Amino acid sequence: MSQQADIMQADIVQADIVQADIVIVGAGTLGAALALRLAQVTDFSIKVIERGPALDEASDPNQRVFALGQCAATLLEQIGVFKLLGSESCHPYQSMCVWDAGSAGQLNFSASEIEQTQLGWMVDAQKLTRLLQQELAKTARISVVYEHELTEFKRAADTAKVSSQTLSVTTPLAIAADGANSWLRRAAKIFSNRMPYGQAGIVARICTSEPHQHCAWQRFLDTGPVAVLPLANGDSSIVWSADQHYADQLMALCETDFEIALSKALDQRLGAVKLKTQRQCFPLVSQSASRYYQANVALIGDAAHSIHPLAGQGANLGFKDIELLAALLSEHSTEQLRQRSMLALLQRYQRGREKDNRQTDLLMTALYQTYKANNPLWASLRGLGMSLVDNTPVLRELLARQAMGL
Ligand SMILES: Cc1cc2nc3c(=O)[nH]c(=O)nc-3n(C[C@H](O)[C@H](O)[C@H](O)COP(=O)(O)OP(=O)(O)OC[C@H]3O[C@@H](n4cnc5c(N)ncnc54)[C@H](O)[C@@H]3O)c2cc1C
Repeated sequence: MSQQADIMQADIVQADIVQADIVIVGAGTLGAALALRLAQVTDFSIKVIERGPALDEASDPNQRVFALGQCAATLLEQIGVFKLLGSESCHPYQSMCVWDAGSAGQLNFSASEIEQTQLGWMVDAQKLTRLLQQELAKTARISVVYEHELTEFKRAADTAKVSSQTLSVTTPLAIAADGANSWLRRAAKIFSNRMPYGQAGIVARICTSEPHQHCAWQRFLDTGPVAVLPLANGDSSIVWSADQHYADQLMALCETDFEIALSKALDQRLGAVKLKTQRQCFPLVSQSASRYYQANVALIGDAAHSIHPLAGQGANLGFKDIELLAALLSEHSTEQLRQRSMLALLQRYQRGREKDNRQTDLLMTALYQTYKANNPLWASLRGLGMSLVDNTPVLRELLARQAMGL
């Protein structure tokens, strides 16, 4: 054989060219959860391609916590991961207290008002993703590759093809679960509206001298909301959303000065604050794809929509995307998936999810604007509105149901 032929032979052996019924780009929380749910309710072969390394106990810590509602918890129970979280990483919270720095307005509601034991669960986001990834590795019909940078996307007739330098996968349906800055969404030329809030969210674990009482606390400041989310062992997690320049100043403070600033921002309601971890800072954007599919590509989670974290709804919306898309796909056999156009299914998916996602995004943006307005007249109207809701049991029940995702 000539040298040229030898080289070509080696290239062919190295190139991993495969087919899969479904390709999921991104093995973050939602990509991994979708793969596991699809493996449960369909017979499809599923290929998951993740850019980063697989998470393990030695991975750099991420302090982010998800406040998850009933829909997310049910889905995690169905795929067998909820029970693996353990009480250390999944803490039920029973009530919410929201108050306004610019007025006397205050709002309290609790699970007991709707005869429930909790409004939701505070879940360690990194542990959840790690457990989901561990389950992927154990599940037949799912094959996962990590540390893979996709570079090419092509469409031909009824298939899509995604490729990296060493892997090429052809599929009837590629699903983008690769986050707010989705590569697949851009490659499929799906336009996305992006509105940076000009804010960042500072996240850290803390303990407080006053007990958190299993309550999620949130105070609205004119620089953005600060939330304290109750965890196990009396610890809490914070999400302090602040205008970028102020967030930079807060990140630059030494630990003691940050603790004092946080305790003050919380109106001393939880007493003295002690940092238990490093602070981490995430940029906040509202981003909404103009459509959730295009030929053989569908978007879920932050790839389709990302919102302000002030009500902790981002991942919850993504779990609802998974629930619907998996239910729709479960109506198809492997043969049908390969032979039929995906169009009708994907239209149903978009119709089923777009309204809820957009309304939640609009609501978060409206709330953000309402509390940012610093005019004294507006602030007292806002305070009156909050007190009115607080004194109206039926509205408090509505809020509790909304928080639970019922
Ligand atoms: C400060 C803060 C607090 C929040 N709190 C809450 C909360 O309390 N409750 C809640 O419901 N939501 C919350 N959210 C929102 C939540 O974090 C997101 O909605 C959720 O993480 C989105 O998950 P995802 O899997 O879609 O995307 P991501 O978590 O971004 O995961 C995307 C995955 O795709 C991978 N990837 C990216 N590009 C590629 C590529 N080209 N090829 C292959 N893989 C790729 C990434 O490595 C990653 O693993 C919060 C957000 C912030 C910023």
